[in-house]
Amino acid sequence: MNRPPDWYSRGLPHIWLPYNQMKTTAPPLAVARTDGTRIVLADGRELVDGVASWWTACHGYNHPHIVAAIQAQAARMPHVMLGGLVHEQVLNLARRLCALAPAPLTRVFFSDSGSVAVEVAMKMAVQYWLNRGIRGRTKFLCFRGGYHGDTFATMAVCDPEEGMHNLFTGILPEHYVIDLPSAGDDAFERFVEQHADELAGILVEPLVQGAGGMKFHGPDTLRRLRAAADKRDLLLIFDEIFTGFARTGTMFACEVAGVVPDIMTVGKALTGGTIPLAATIASQKVFDAFWSDDPAHALMHGPTYMGNALACAAANATLDLFESEDRLGAVRAIEDALRRGLEGCRGLSGVAHVRVRGAIGVVQLHAISNLGALKSRFADAGVWVRPFRDIVYLTPALTIGEADLAKLTSTIGAVLGQ
Ligand code: PMP
Repeated sequence: MNRPPDWYSRGLPHIWLPYNQMKTTAPPLAVARTDGTRIVLADGRELVDGVASWWTACHGYNHPHIVAAIQAQAARMPHVMLGGLVHEQVLNLARRLCALAPAPLTRVFFSDSGSVAVEVAMKMAVQYWLNRGIRGRTKFLCFRGGYHGDTFATMAVCDPEEGMHNLFTGILPEHYVIDLPSAGDDAFERFVEQHADELAGILVEPLVQGAGGMKFHGPDTLRRLRAAADKRDLLLIFDEIFTGFARTGTMFACEVAGVVPDIMTVGKALTGGTIPLAATIASQKVFDAFWSDDPAHALMHGPTYMGNALACAAANATLDLFESEDRLGAVRAIEDALRRGLEGCRGLSGVAHVRVRGAIGVVQLHAISNLGALKSRFADAGVWVRPFRDIVYLTPALTIGEADLAKLTSTIGAVLGQ
């Protein structure tokens, strides 16, 4: 490898990187630029990207339509506070998100990260009960394998073992983390019956639990959650930060179940992988509980950069592309290619499970003994694939071409087969 650039050697001693033991982790790769589904490294190597930067870059990197929208907005007005002011981009985006989300999700509260969007959803749910004069409904029912963020409130609703937060057990507020309902077993319904009076709501990532291990469940599960919530008048919150914007094959994962949550969170792909933005979308019923002459019934929340004009312009451009280009068709083609391309991994020694849903492909191993070594073997083979825990996964841009996708799946097969 060539000598790293000056900015790399001088800055690296001062950066604190995510999810890593900084002492022992392999040094990060220096990226010079991105293009479509490629990451170009500072040493000139080009990697085919299988992750789309934590699945944000749904239309590929540097999409000219999104870049142009950001540039135009930067020239006009990068940002204005949302306290007392609004602008065209944020109102257009709120209207468009509500049109896209299933009815009756009608009000959008913007924030700057997925974790905060989930915190806002939790705050809305708890205050929904307080505003209606009902006390004691303060806990959330959430699920093993779930992941909703890294802030303190969201850590408390992740799987305590797998959510990377078990160190903080005992410090975090306690919620109920149970197994997702399984066929032929009513343990979930019985749990809800027992604890309904303490629950503000039920919180789940619909269809795919992402960062907790890319675990899949079916539409029936979501219908059971909705039925249980309806029976005991609980709020149902879907965290679509991973699954939203076509990743699982429909615009939002909840659509396949025909189930509408009371609150939905979105983020990640919302700006096509350009600028941080997330949103909490509430149903009319939830919003109505805050609509009052009593100032104490207001939602007292307001991230400084909420509704940032650059981010909203990027999001509007992202939605334009979902309207003008057939991304749902692309997901179907990616799903087929992932099934075909990863099929061969089933027979490899060490492979426990292969699963595909929409534009998500997962090869689960019995164990990965040396994660660092595996990561560098992928990079050496010319692909950006970032295994974690016991899984190797692909969440490529929805614009990825057949050849790049084939390179990703065949490289996974080859590297795991070694
Ligand atoms: N919810 C889900 C389902 C997620 O996948 C993530 C991020 N991986 C989050 C919440 C947190 O989002 P952020 O990292 O933007 O805070």
